[in-house]
Amino acid sequence: MKWDKEAEQAAEILPIPPMMGAYARLHAEKVARQRGLDCVTADVVKETEQVYADFMGKEKTEQLKAFFAGTGPAPEMEEELFFENEKALYFIDTCFAKYGENSSLVRNALKDMMRSATSVMEEENLTEIMADLTTGAFHGASRFNLGMTGCPNCCVSPYLKDFGIIMQHRVDITEIECVHCGECMKMCIEKSIQLAPDGPIIDRKTCVQCELCARDCPTGTLTVKERAWQVIAGGGGGHHPTIAVTIEDFTSKDRVIEILRNAIARLRVASPGESLRMIIAREGPGAIC
Ligand code: SF4
Ligand code: SF4
Repeated sequence: MKWDKEAEQAAEILPIPPMMGAYARLHAEKVARQRGLDCVTADVVKETEQVYADFMGKEKTEQLKAFFAGTGPAPEMEEELFFENEKALYFIDTCFAKYGENSSLVRNALKDMMRSATSVMEEENLTEIMADLTTGAFHGASRFNLGMTGCPNCCVSPYLKDFGIIMQHRVDITEIECVHCGECMKMCIEKSIQLAPDGPIIDRKTCVQCELCARDCPTGTLTVKERAWQVIAGGGGGHHPTIAVTIEDFTSKDRVIEILRNAIARLRVASPGESLRMIIAREGPGAIC
């Protein structure tokens, strides 16, 4: 699709992370198509900008605007969240927070968790354990795969990994008066929020604790008071894809590390050819609790 000159100029300074630039252009072209246009206009780019601002939240959008205006620093990559150790038979895949997404609070919590998980896997000689369990040549699938995400959006599929650590954010409803702006309902893709005359009501059975409703609540009626972790395990891809099961919900960091140690201890006494997913399928989550 063609883009007019003003649209091209507006796209160059869209406040979005560089890695999302191509997707934002596709989004603008979709909006133009839906409006029956044969060319992307500056108006269409404006609509795309708003969609991405809602998606990323005010804090991130303001940082990016400042960068494009030349008054703020470039979006930061979180080098520590890129796992690099080609000699290890374990691997940690972290979510898009490694590209600077999410809040600094979440990125710091993920870095802290990654340091602890890496130390445990190192201390417990997980590479040797995985080497002994592997029959034949070592390759990518011989590794113990750990997926870690800053929210239940799970963008790096921890449910298809041996072990998953997912940050959870419990949203509380405060006494502060709600102005019925509807922002929270717009953000909740689970449709877990209703607006009653005296304010929001959260359906805790369907809420996945992602915090998006609270992130840009203008009044502070919704806020996150507690954050914790969900541990899942026993997933995997390959010939027989398996979805990980929940081991523990809304638990502390210490408990996450304890469960990880338990999983490694169970693998230490496993037979060659066995994996965590085989053990959990046979023995249930109790195998590593
Ligand atoms: S809870 Fe917050 S975001 Fe939701 S409608 Fe009320 S003021 Fe708006
Ligand atoms: S925290 Fe719960 S209620 Fe809020 S947006 Fe996420 S799923 Fe919806």
